[in-house]
Amino acid sequence: MLTIPIRSVVRSFQPYTAGLSIEEIRQKYNLDRVIKLASNENPIGVSPLVQEAICKRAGLAFRYPQSGNPRLKAALARKLGVNTDRIVTGNGSDEIIDLLFRVTATSGVHNVVVFQPCFGLYPTQAALCGIELRRVMLNTNFSFPFEKALSLVDENTALIFVTTPDNPSGHAVLREELLAFAEKIPETCLLVVDEAYIDFTDNSEKYSILSDMPKHLIDRVAVLRTFSKVHGMAGLRLGYGIMPPEIADYMWRIRLPFSVNILAEEGALAALEDTAFYSKTLEVVRCGRTFLSKELTQLGCHVFPSQANFLMFIPPKGVNAHKIFNELLKQGLILRPLDSYGLPDFLRVSIGNSEENKYLITVLHKLLGFLQCI
Ligand SMILES: *Cc1c(COP(=O)(O)O)cnc(C)c1O
Repeated sequence: MLTIPIRSVVRSFQPYTAGLSIEEIRQKYNLDRVIKLASNENPIGVSPLVQEAICKRAGLAFRYPQSGNPRLKAALARKLGVNTDRIVTGNGSDEIIDLLFRVTATSGVHNVVVFQPCFGLYPTQAALCGIELRRVMLNTNFSFPFEKALSLVDENTALIFVTTPDNPSGHAVLREELLAFAEKIPETCLLVVDEAYIDFTDNSEKYSILSDMPKHLIDRVAVLRTFSKVHGMAGLRLGYGIMPPEIADYMWRIRLPFSVNILAEEGALAALEDTAFYSKTLEVVRCGRTFLSKELTQLGCHVFPSQANFLMFIPPKGVNAHKIFNELLKQGLILRPLDSYGLPDFLRVSIGNSEENKYLITVLHKLLGFLQCI
């Protein structure tokens, strides 16, 4: 019997559910090749400039990173056209999400509002911090019922999270609509807009709340971005937030001093310069999204419109989502079941490169033909 105290929120903690890894599936099914389309990673890999930057600095790994990541902060500020004092970098935007809870919400006093389903990390970090989570069901087409959300917000609501484009649906909110929502939120509550997938939209100016943010909203809105998706650096762990300067200051004070490692920082600086890789990624994702959406629909799936680098779909009538997921696994294709999002009948697939997308459709075509016969 362990005699060390364990906090009760830790004892009952429901950990974040991650996508399956390539290695575990390769071993389990004895496969030569496994294609992972489960975690919305970049379909063309790592930018050559990022690889070069990391290799060149490998010998610097014995040094601590520069405290406060000033070079990266300056590069991001320049790129985004915002003041450096609004930027906080972290070990993935996951860390920024965690810090937002820790900086703003007090257990037993405050609450946080999220939509349901939502990205798994909002509920996990709320639970860990002992913060009451208020959930608003999304509309059936996965758009946001903003009025309903407002009815749950009170003077003790510290944060409200909106993910756009949303995970797992891919639904994106128009900037105008988001701005109108922001205006109605009490000044005591911070609107957190998670823009992890904003680059993949048809036109980010139409969707991002960051471009040209009205001055009076600067102190009321935080925007989250990441190098994990469009910049192909998920394994290096680097994300950031653009937020009210005062909150950014508190975040910097409590953030673990060296949570962004030196190679991630150098990689990110190179990624910001690699416009060719960035454009190529967008081209591959947008083209693959159109292809997969059309093909999945033709196979009888119900595909939800997506502005992100993934698609959410319901398999054809009579075909079980778990069954498809498991059969695809055996053939070396990892998709994402959405049970942890409360959507057991849905699947999510990340857009792969054109060969991976075609392979998925070929395998699914055979599989669905077979499953529907029995
Ligand atoms: C992938 C993702 C992130 C990014 O996470 P990192 O910690 O930066 O890798 C943030 N929010 C959402 C909704 C995501 O899907």
